[in-house]
Amino acid sequence: MSNEFFVKNAIYFEFSVFILALVITFWIIIDSSRRYRNKWIMPIAAITISFGPFIISKILTTGSMYLMLSSLAVWVLYMVIRPEYTLEEERLLETEGRIRDLTKRYYEYELSKSGNVCPVCGLPIDKDYKICPNCFTHLRKVCPNCKHLVDVDWTACPYCETRLDKKDAIDEE
Ligand SMILES: [Zn+2]
Ligand SMILES: [Zn+2]
Repeated sequence: MSNEFFVKNAIYFEFSVFILALVITFWIIIDSSRRYRNKWIMPIAAITISFGPFIISKILTTGSMYLMLSSLAVWVLYMVIRPEYTLEEERLLETEGRIRDLTKRYYEYELSKSGNVCPVCGLPIDKDYKICPNCFTHLRKVCPNCKHLVDVDWTACPYCETRLDKKDAIDEE
């Protein structure tokens, strides 16, 4: 009785297993194409491993249970080895990382300017140095009006409101 039932329904069982294997394989093909630079490796592996045993089982007439097991195994394996991020997400992360790096370097540069190291060579310097004694980078210039030391990039003196230009730094040499 139960054997007869199984034989009757085996075709349906085989068919649903075949659909399941197709869905899993199709999903792996779609998903892997977004995660691998080589778009062919995963689909070929998935199809071979999922359907290989099915074809062998057809030849040996051992039933389609192997197909379900192999495609489920492929799916589990794929979930373990698939890259965490898609190629698009990877590119985004890379860009974000680059922006973070640039921002960090910008702040480091700003900090070194207001702090006490040379922005070019990193040599420790005093606040009133006009040039770096190591690499001769211009660090401060003297305001021609009030004689205060001001940042070499500033276009106005914050002490006396005098407009400054680049040549002031050279004048003071
Ligand atoms: Zn320097
Ligand atoms: Zn001034």
